[in-house]
Amino acid sequence: FDKLLKTRSLSKNEFEFLILNRDFVLDDVYRSAKAITKKFFNKEIYVRGLIEISNCCKNDCYYCGIRASNKNVNRYRLSKEEILDSVRLGTELGFKTFVLQGGEDGGFKDEDLIDIIKNIKTINPQTAITLSVGEKEFDVLKMYREAGADRFLLRHETKNREHYYKLHPKSMSQEHRLKVLRDLKTLGFQTGSGIMVGSPGQTIENIAEDLVFLLELQPEMVGIGPFIPAQGTPFENEASGSVEMTVFLLCILRIMFPKANIPATTSLATLSKEWRDKAIEYAANVYMPNMTPTYRRMDYSLYKDKACFKIEAAENLEELKKLFGSLGYRVVMSRGDFKDV
Ligand code: SAM
Repeated sequence: FDKLLKTRSLSKNEFEFLILNRDFVLDDVYRSAKAITKKFFNKEIYVRGLIEISNCCKNDCYYCGIRASNKNVNRYRLSKEEILDSVRLGTELGFKTFVLQGGEDGGFKDEDLIDIIKNIKTINPQTAITLSVGEKEFDVLKMYREAGADRFLLRHETKNREHYYKLHPKSMSQEHRLKVLRDLKTLGFQTGSGIMVGSPGQTIENIAEDLVFLLELQPEMVGIGPFIPAQGTPFENEASGSVEMTVFLLCILRIMFPKANIPATTSLATLSKEWRDKAIEYAANVYMPNMTPTYRRMDYSLYKDKACFKIEAAENLEELKKLFGSLGYRVVMSRGDFKDV
């Protein structure tokens, strides 16, 4: 652990050793991550408005509630006006950054998304736009970037090839996903990647490989959250990932990437409010309240019992401010760009 603190990096074997022996260093890890987060973010939490633009998806990831072959999903695709209305509402609330997330929906044409990106920038030219719409070709990403998209989230899910194909059908290509991540960096997107903690078949060795991969990628954002089983998927009876392990890894990531934007994710909040608060206290500096039209929110059901009302909802921002305020943190409404200074 001392070596990690000094060098901000470890080898795969060292990460594995650290994770296996985490109980012996837990307090130090929490304390160090907390000090680093305070130093770089000064107890400020950036909020992003999350708009779930479509739950249609051509992929069939075994873990995901909106996978193509889940017949129990009430499919929707927000119209351009629904998305822009959500952005307008969010802008009135003070949000300066929005995450447009969705399945890999062929019905959403590239030109539609480009038009939406340009329109968001006319609502407020200062608004930062993050896309999370799955794998796209270089030329398409370039068009998104030129239209004004600033950031892109694409979790690598797992670096280990064998594990990747325990989570995804053979028709999906891990090589392609990793290529897209490199393309995003090349195109100057603030790039986010990450994993689910406790996804079926995941070993501690796999997590160590993921951490080494993230060191190579040097993402500006890292999103990790516990796996939660989803009804109607091959993994519906699997156990959820550990919230303790999630927060431990968030702390390790904070030490590795002091300036990165790291959210306390919805899946963590879904499993435990207590551990979501610990994530905020020790390592996370981002929160993403849900801004999807309320009548669609429950249809974007990646997993069971998704938290998306109460303080997880953008319309309840004041309550979120109060809650985080009571923990000693201030919700700030700036763009919250990655700053490498
Ligand atoms: N389709 C895009 C993609 O693949 O990047 C974005 C949407 S995808 C649903 C967003 C993220 O949700 C995935 O990267 C995955 O890690 C997470 N996710 C999906 N199913 C989950 C589950 N059952 N538990 C926790 N997280 C899940």
